[in-house]
Amino acid sequence: MDEVVALCKRRGLIFPASEIYGGIANTYDYGHYGVLLKRNVTDAWWKAMIQERDDIVALDSAIIQHPKTWEASGHLAGFSDPLVQCLGKCKKRYRLDHLQEEAVEKGEDPALVKCPTCGGDLSEPRAFNLMFQTNIGPVQDEGSTVYLRPETAQGIFLDFKQTLNYARKKPPFGIAQIGKSFRNEITPGNFIFRTLEFEQMEMEFFVPPDEAEQWYEYWCQERLSWYVKLGINPERLRLRPHDAEELSHYSSGTSDVEYLYPIGWSELEGIANRGNFDLTQHAEHSREKLEWKDPQTGKGYLPHVIEPAAGLGRTMLALLCEAYDQDDIGGETRTVLRLHPTVAPIKVAVLPLLRKDGHPEKAREIYTALRKRLSAEYDEGGHIGKRYRRQDEIGTPYGITVDHQTFEDDTVTLRDRDSLTQERVPVEGLVDLLEAKINA
Ligand code: ATP
Repeated sequence: MDEVVALCKRRGLIFPASEIYGGIANTYDYGHYGVLLKRNVTDAWWKAMIQERDDIVALDSAIIQHPKTWEASGHLAGFSDPLVQCLGKCKKRYRLDHLQEEAVEKGEDPALVKCPTCGGDLSEPRAFNLMFQTNIGPVQDEGSTVYLRPETAQGIFLDFKQTLNYARKKPPFGIAQIGKSFRNEITPGNFIFRTLEFEQMEMEFFVPPDEAEQWYEYWCQERLSWYVKLGINPERLRLRPHDAEELSHYSSGTSDVEYLYPIGWSELEGIANRGNFDLTQHAEHSREKLEWKDPQTGKGYLPHVIEPAAGLGRTMLALLCEAYDQDDIGGETRTVLRLHPTVAPIKVAVLPLLRKDGHPEKAREIYTALRKRLSAEYDEGGHIGKRYRRQDEIGTPYGITVDHQTFEDDTVTLRDRDSLTQERVPVEGLVDLLEAKINA
């Protein structure tokens, strides 16, 4: 993990936020290549969830909703974790459930956990709500309290009725959204695995009650295969069903998609069969009818909901850990991100072999044409080997080099990041060739 973190910082993908002030716990900023990678992941999610389907519509709901939302959803009363404080030297705070999970993983007795920093005894646990609280308006009284959403899902339930009115859909159909959520996490986060603010990619799939089980199974498989398509080795992916103790009170089935991160198997996405809990709660608290009425039978019912809820940061971390590799080229160690071309921040680098003899001009001309359709980068600074290394580290799958021969036969070399093969290809048709390779 440390190597991935160091590479992300070195190449400006992801780095600690507010670093000039010493940083802020569990909070990161995404630089140029990190932003591009992130966009490629969300694009792939949108494509799979919306573009290639006709039973899911998009939504972008507000981060701050009516406070009753969280009363109805159960987050105000129940979204709390047992917090303990070290009674020894360091006085640090931890989530007891996280310490206990770690103890179980190490084969230790979870009832005997101590402070992981200084070994001190821990206080009795007290409930600690994970929602960030803030106020609307200048007066901070009880009536002005609002919350930053801890998940995007509730916005979808609030807009269920509205969506039914315009989207001309009937169950089974889904509403999907990507957006920031906020949780007051106090456990050290393992880089971007657990952060205070994070992006979620969530979809609520509304189904007739007697089809819930079948759609739950369907979405478990569908989501698992999405990660494989993005380049994750299926051997480091698994679906872990929650046992009865772990299940939320409203859920009749939940499975986590887990990835074998360097920190061990951990949750990448949760897929839950939520029954009609959320619509029932919001109908009760808002006094609105949130039923779907079958126009044929005239009968109404509350749809059941299957929710695949994925985290963008955790997906990116899995992709980065999966892609990180080192090999040996001519006695030199090369660090390379073997990212799937669909998610790679830059698809092709265009490099003049020399900074003279018309190479830069020709390379720029090719680059300008390519970038209209692909995320491309032009680089003429430094030795060609060094420039390739740089592209390898940010995961660029293809490199184009302009050399003397280009001026004789209008061809360039095309270098493959993984096989390191170099072939001569005509400049004409280059963009089609690259697109075909990326989409293969
Ligand atoms: P955990 O038990 O690891 O805290 P969770 O079960 O509370 O996660 P969910 O409420 O199911 O998480 O949220 C759905 C997804 O949102 C998670 O699978 C994860 O990818 C992402 N997620 C949740 N909390 C965070 C966080 N603090 N930082 C980054 N991603 C998060």
